Amino acid sequence: MRTANRITEHRAESAGPGLFAATTPLVRECGDPLVDIRKGTALRYGPPPECPETAPHYCLLRRDVYQRLLRVQQSLPQGYYLRLYEGLRSLAVQARLFEQEHARVRSRMPHAPASETHAAAARLVAPVTHFDGSMNIPPHSTGGAVDVEIVDQSGKVIDFAMEIGDWANVDPKLCDPMCPDISDEAASNRRLLAVAMTQEGFASYSHEWWHFSYGDLHWATFTGNTHAIYGPCPEAMIIAAAHTAI
Ligand SMILES: [Zn+2]
Repeated sequence: MRTANRITEHRAESAGPGLFAATTPLVRECGDPLVDIRKGTALRYGPPPECPETAPHYCLLRRDVYQRLLRVQQSLPQGYYLRLYEGLRSLAVQARLFEQEHARVRSRMPHAPASETHAAAARLVAPVTHFDGSMNIPPHSTGGAVDVEIVDQSGKVIDFAMEIGDWANVDPKLCDPMCPDISDEAASNRRLLAVAMTQEGFASYSHEWWHFSYGDLHWATFTGNTHAIYGPCPEAMIIAAAHTAI
């Protein structure tokens, strides 16, 4: 059973000039429920990413996003499978990850002004609040953003030139989908993932080969949609996922 659709709106200024700068004016929450992919076996998923606090939520996705991922998987060559690295991330964990990345940036750029280090950290981790103090809507808080990879029949991740989990330890340029300094095979595998995802309506992200989204503000900007359909998932929606059929 679907939850009742409640239309709520967030002003665009809440998206501000952060990681996914939004020029779209509104989020009109459509109420698509969250589902937990661990209830089924159709889509693979890895271990909890980043820190133990992500474990309760990382396999939660909006139902429409889940169904799109199943279609992406069907479009892959035989013997290849999509694997979810991370879906929903709570705002508390998001804030912690941003602070950790900000600390790494500050140690690399000790003399840079705070506005510059905040912006540099926001390249790879969306802040919960912008530098000016206004609220952001981190993509993973919407249940519409996914970090995904492709594994082979044995469950081994195919060659993407890096593991997603190494994002904080490698040159950020290596995370760019179009990074020129990778093997032909890795470049081809990145293209395979990007084409499969965008053909199912996902927006890609120019700084991370593994990040795609549907329904959030970045997706609205990317696709020219007048509004996003997914805002941040309220606690009640997250709790309801435990009782929602996949
Ligand atoms: Zn992501």
